[in-house]
Amino acid sequence: MKKVKKVPQRKCVGCNERRDKGDLYRVVKTPDGEVVLDKTGKAAGRGAYICRGGIKCLALARRAHRLESNLDTAIPEAVYAALESEMAADD
Ligand SMILES: [Zn+2]
Repeated sequence: MKKVKKVPQRKCVGCNERRDKGDLYRVVKTPDGEVVLDKTGKAAGRGAYICRGGIKCLALARRAHRLESNLDTAIPEAVYAALESEMAADD
């Protein structure tokens, strides 16, 4: 019997579209309360998802404060800047 492999899907906090997990970055709030880009998708902590190469999605999420509400934490300007440059570096 052939097994259909189901790819887990997650919703981007920017554009609100559902995508395969592999097409999204995970932004995670670590147990220390730090907000970082989790490229492995395996870091411990509360996570939110955002499209790969999704600088626009990051801007949208920022405007709507969706990362803050998803991760239940305040996100300072410096953290957004770091996320943005990490995402840009990956393109
Ligand atoms: Zn998106």
